[in-house]
Amino acid sequence: MRLNRRKFLQVSAGVATAMALTSKRVGAQLKPVVKVGNPLEAYPDRRWEEVYRDQYKYERSFTYCCSPNDTHQCRVRGFVRNGILMRIEQNYDHHKVRDLYGNQADAAWNPRMCLRGMTYPRRAYGPYRNKYPMIRVGWKQWADDGFPYLDKENREKYKMTSRGTDEFVRMTWDQTFTYLAKGHVAVGKAYSGARGAQRLKNEGYQPEMIEAMGGSGPRTFKYRGGMGLLGVVGKYGIYRLANNMALLDSIIRGRGPGKVLGGRAWSNYTWHGDQAPGHSWTHGMQTSDIDFADHRYAKMTIQWGKNLIENKMPEAHWYTEIMERGGTLVSIAPEYNPPATKADYWVPVRAGLSDISLFLGVAKIIMDEGLVDIDYVKDYTDMPLLVRTDTLIRLHPDDFIPGYKAQTLPKDGFTTKWMKNFNRDMMPDFAVWDTNTDKPVAVTREDIGAKMRKKNIDPALDGVFDIKLVSGRTITAMPLYEMYKVHLKDYDIDTVNQICHAPKDLIVRLARDIGTIKPVEIHYGEGICHYFHATMHNRASYVPLMLTGNVGPKGSGSHTWAGNYKAGNYQGSHWSGPGFAAMVAEDPFNPILDVSQNVDWKNVKGYLKGEEVSYWAHRDKALIVNTPRYGRKVFTGRTHMPTPTKLVWFVNVNVINNAKWFYELVFNTNNNVDMIVAQDIEFTGSCEYSDIV
Ligand code: SF4
Repeated sequence: MRLNRRKFLQVSAGVATAMALTSKRVGAQLKPVVKVGNPLEAYPDRRWEEVYRDQYKYERSFTYCCSPNDTHQCRVRGFVRNGILMRIEQNYDHHKVRDLYGNQADAAWNPRMCLRGMTYPRRAYGPYRNKYPMIRVGWKQWADDGFPYLDKENREKYKMTSRGTDEFVRMTWDQTFTYLAKGHVAVGKAYSGARGAQRLKNEGYQPEMIEAMGGSGPRTFKYRGGMGLLGVVGKYGIYRLANNMALLDSIIRGRGPGKVLGGRAWSNYTWHGDQAPGHSWTHGMQTSDIDFADHRYAKMTIQWGKNLIENKMPEAHWYTEIMERGGTLVSIAPEYNPPATKADYWVPVRAGLSDISLFLGVAKIIMDEGLVDIDYVKDYTDMPLLVRTDTLIRLHPDDFIPGYKAQTLPKDGFTTKWMKNFNRDMMPDFAVWDTNTDKPVAVTREDIGAKMRKKNIDPALDGVFDIKLVSGRTITAMPLYEMYKVHLKDYDIDTVNQICHAPKDLIVRLARDIGTIKPVEIHYGEGICHYFHATMHNRASYVPLMLTGNVGPKGSGSHTWAGNYKAGNYQGSHWSGPGFAAMVAEDPFNPILDVSQNVDWKNVKGYLKGEEVSYWAHRDKALIVNTPRYGRKVFTGRTHMPTPTKLVWFVNVNVINNAKWFYELVFNTNNNVDMIVAQDIEFTGSCEYSDIV
């Protein structure tokens, strides 16, 4: 029946009349309100509250480590009723956790969780949950047609050029495994040997990338396990598959062990911006990072472009608790962000490159106002090392000492103890100007702190010195500290204010705080690490800290916080065994099948090779540039040379969605990829542009 407005009013009027006629009877059924004199003495029937209590009933519970890509690894408890995971709570037992060496976490690690972890059941049972395997219709057709070579016409026919507009069909697991295996064989064969190389050449791939394949089709397979260290079996399992592709190469090219190549293992660390590129630039280590318990020691914390409160939720309390201990909190960001709301002061800066100038300006004030920790700078930084002013290269002892031979390094030093297979010839000694003898003297990389003092060397920080070279020529050299004095002349407070827009009084306040409070730590976000200027950004953060003795002591330092460092599971060492290498790179030709045996170093044989994922996002090209003056220049080294990407398989990571150049990747680059496999619990943006989910 069509109900128009007139009809509706007629029906409503009828219902109202009927209710009025029966209201007496309805009213008779309603119970009168129970009157309670003093609610503290007596209370009416409270059984209705059970409705709410029942919501929290459960039949069993279990604990697990929440392990998405966010790296926090919170230990949580799930509650199950009627076979359904109803809710998740903090387990509040981090203080009971200890490592193999007996180090026990304390109660300060509780509580530990976030809303994403708590609402996980909604994702598990939600509408985006992948409940069965699916294959894209066009890709399936390509497979069913016998995997014909994907020339331009076929790429369009099978919708390799229009993924995202196609449909998916539901498959059984067995069917899916078969398609996956057949796809690997087909793609591997298509690009193996001379025929494969010719095809890739015709398709326009750079010759250096084709050469890097060594004739192996499976070398075009790219695998990516999301944040693998947080779930080695589930996520790094994909790298085991990459290694096992050596078997496929063996079958395709008829070669034996040692003469075949596996797939490429795409990196995680750089793709998501977890790696601070300026760290390796500044001190040679991949990353400087701490466990957040180290915040307990900090007296001043500077959050630089980092929203720890919202983005690192279970860790944010370490930051705010510095407040309780009387520490100073500073936030540097363009916007008044959540860390700024907790801070003693917020230094607003212009978005972009400008904040580098802030730290150089701060360093200048620290030097100008005599806030430098001179002993620390002499003992533990490279600022006393002499630099030639003619070449701007460090002065080396063989420049001015005839027949100088590199000194023997002490056995208890970092170099001899921890660096394996180091090449002493690549580690020349340095020179400082010794104020005790008023001469340049040689120092080794181990002559730091007490060791240098034991040699009775007191290096100069200021001044320009004449150095007579072995050749007889005289040049001048100056300590790096002196060079910084010259360099920082450009960063006077007016200029810094002009560049970064930070208020002048706050620039001075920041400098004086860093110069007078100890320990001071600076933390910056992975977000910043995405950008090219991060090299300079990270490096600038070290300058004021080095000047004030704030690198090394607990509660100090310049760090990102990716968080993987506490996932110390499965790490390998020479004495404990190969760790996750046993999982990833067990010799595919001789796997250990006896369950009572462990995989040892001798059973590890790596056929896979790492690859920086950004080459794929860079139109699947190495960094090769046709320069106007010097012609074609290959900037990507042979060790890092990518191979053409023809098969992609990623696990537990929304890798396409995270691309910085998403449009180009999805609408151009991936058109040349033959097979994309997305393995995830939800239908992510990456699944949408894949072939097999
Ligand atoms: S922070 Fe949240 S999502 Fe991350 S591990 Fe902890 S509970 Fe899980």
